[in-house]
Amino acid sequence: MTEAVHCQYHTNNPAVWHCEGCQKHYGDCCVPAVPEGYDEPVCMLCNQEMQYLGAAHSAEPFWLKINDFFLYPVRVASLTFLAVCIVIGFVMPYTGPLILPLSILLMCVLTKYSLQIIESVSMGDWEPPSLEEAFSADGMSLFFKQIGIFLVAGVALYFLSNLGVFVVLGAAAFMLLGLPASMMILAREHTLSAAVNPIKIAFVISAIGWPYLLLYFFLIVLYGGPGYFIGGQEEVSSLFTAASSLLGGYFSFVMCAMMGYCLYQYQSELGYAAEMEGEEGMTEEEYRNQKALADGLVFMREGREEEALKITKQALERDRSNIQLNKRFFKLLLLSAPDQALIKFGEKYMQRLMILRRDHEAADVYLEMKGRMKAYMPAVPGERYRLAEALSQKGKAREALGLLFNLHKLFPDYQQIPEAYLLIARLLSENMNNDDQAGKYLDFIIKHYPDHRMAKEARDYKQVIESLSSTTAA
Ligand SMILES: [Zn+2]
Ligand SMILES: [Zn+2]
Repeated sequence: MTEAVHCQYHTNNPAVWHCEGCQKHYGDCCVPAVPEGYDEPVCMLCNQEMQYLGAAHSAEPFWLKINDFFLYPVRVASLTFLAVCIVIGFVMPYTGPLILPLSILLMCVLTKYSLQIIESVSMGDWEPPSLEEAFSADGMSLFFKQIGIFLVAGVALYFLSNLGVFVVLGAAAFMLLGLPASMMILAREHTLSAAVNPIKIAFVISAIGWPYLLLYFFLIVLYGGPGYFIGGQEEVSSLFTAASSLLGGYFSFVMCAMMGYCLYQYQSELGYAAEMEGEEGMTEEEYRNQKALADGLVFMREGREEEALKITKQALERDRSNIQLNKRFFKLLLLSAPDQALIKFGEKYMQRLMILRRDHEAADVYLEMKGRMKAYMPAVPGERYRLAEALSQKGKAREALGLLFNLHKLFPDYQQIPEAYLLIARLLSENMNNDDQAGKYLDFIIKHYPDHRMAKEARDYKQVIESLSSTTAA
């Protein structure tokens, strides 16, 4: 077997170009496909013409990468995630009435994480999702969509049963065969309607062709994997439960990585390629943005930050609203730019994210600025409030509170002080265990904004706090 050549900077991507001058290989990750009318690409590092390696463009087939799938879950992020889930599973039986919401939460998180693995591997990203991504609010609904798939399948079978036994058997066989394809579609498109569409499922199966059956075979073997190791144990100790959960999680992550890679390998047949590489349909503007991002990354990896900064800046001047460019530019500024420049751009970047309702990402940007400049505070009170809300949803109560204190003194004309102070009260009571302070903020709202709709909420909330503290005191 000949060793496949990979991109110098993305070791999972096959090489498409070679630069004689730098002795480097690049995948189409680093050299986006050139739209019509443009010259052939030159090496971004040395400006020499490059040699096209031909249509050896295709990724290695998934059956040659089995080792990589088995190694995929053996990474800090995925192992930590599994450990956290196992701990939650252990604590659950002792939580009384919380057991139901906790187990739903656990299933939501596990489903989401599995589908996230499929999605990220399908885009050529082999880093498992981080703990923060796993527990962030977006995508939690995927579990219910997955349940929805089974419901739709059940209802369909029920109605088909009127048409005779062979129709039902045929449909059931198709559903069983289509299950991985349906999961792969759900992971990529996040919609129930696409994942239960039989035409779409049949399309995915036929686009992959016979290897789909091979994938299916591997998945069945892997599905039985944990049972092979554990066997039929009679005694069930807690250590045993932990070990089997760990194994179960491990094997399902291996399966997900394999399904994700299958999507990656067949991306052009499946029509999923557009987001990942240059397609004929790419506009000139998209191409220039892609190129700036790709070149910028290579320069960064080469330690040539000045050039990375220059390229990104030029691209941003053409298209200020491109979030990927904004993100890259911010990252580069974070490395070495003076504080003032970082603040000036960071605030614009946060505003762009908030216009798009991507407040959680804006909050991450804020935290990075704060990490570098302890005293930093956004200048606009409305932004402080939105960032604080996003931070509190991320479970960062202390950071959220830091944004909200003293708003009534700093910005006496700010309209949303009651909302902001109610948020402070909640954070103090629920996250900081400080009901006394929380009560003071509630009193402030009730006293200064008696007719505001938040005043009623403040009164209700105060009652809750007081009744809770009287029951714990008793
Ligand atoms: Zn070169
Ligand atoms: Zn690359």
